[in-house]
Amino acid sequence: MALLVLSTRRAQELARQQMEFVAAVSHELRTPLAVIRSAGENLADGVVHDEQQVRKYGDLVRNEGRRLTEMVEQILEFAGIQSGQLGFALRPVQIASLLHDVVESSRALMDDAAISVEFAIAEHLPPVLGDEAALRRVFQNLVSNAIKYGRTGRWLGIRARQVGREIRVTVSDRGIGIQPSAQPRIFEPFYRAPDVVAAQIQGAGLGLSLVKRIVEAHGGRIAVSSAPGSGSEFTVMLPAATEETVGRAAALREPSGQAHGTHA
Ligand code: ADP
Repeated sequence: MALLVLSTRRAQELARQQMEFVAAVSHELRTPLAVIRSAGENLADGVVHDEQQVRKYGDLVRNEGRRLTEMVEQILEFAGIQSGQLGFALRPVQIASLLHDVVESSRALMDDAAISVEFAIAEHLPPVLGDEAALRRVFQNLVSNAIKYGRTGRWLGIRARQVGREIRVTVSDRGIGIQPSAQPRIFEPFYRAPDVVAAQIQGAGLGLSLVKRIVEAHGGRIAVSSAPGSGSEFTVMLPAATEETVGRAAALREPSGQAHGTHA
């Protein structure tokens, strides 16, 4: 009976969260759509004549369109993660090479902003048992944020080490930082700190909520430490893979029996 009450409560809570999510998504999509529509109307009605104005409207449509695309992509990812871990294929993932890959793929952005990278990755780190694509998204999001919000500091730090049975990865920047009042809220979907909104730094406010969900689905945690004006530090803690967990994941991946080589 107690179990039934508990699972009904969980279902109600889930339904409430989903309603809130849909309401927040609709609200967030409305703003860029309104901008695009009004720019389109002004252009179509022929009220904009001089070339500079036309270019300004073109820029608006392009930027808001880009924002919409980014938002829709993140919403889809978020919904995918939300609906469970079914898509996760757990395999041993080498975090050091994953981190180097992620930084390499952002190299052009960093060069543009003259940001230098400092790696401090311990040797012989054990792998993490996880979904490589999902873990890549975690660090890609953290690195993108460090570039976006860390521009003024021109520095990005990536540290990885083993602490007990955990692998800890820290992504740091020396940028805008996060007000203490905003820190507890940054992992909520669509939350954006007032100072980044005022500074017109683009974003949908979904990256960190996605990161948190993926990390927790891997049995890990994420922590933030930040001071306004000095920078931010995000630490992801993931359980290190052991022979036992790797074996168990392999057995789960294979149809029954095959993992033990009992098929003819
Ligand atoms: P987005 O970057 O699209 O706004 P996120 O979910 O990734 O969304 O981040 C949520 C908020 O957390 C950001 O809007 C910003 O206020 C804050 N934030 C995240 N990373 C950093 C960082 N490295 N430095 C400063 N603020 C950050």
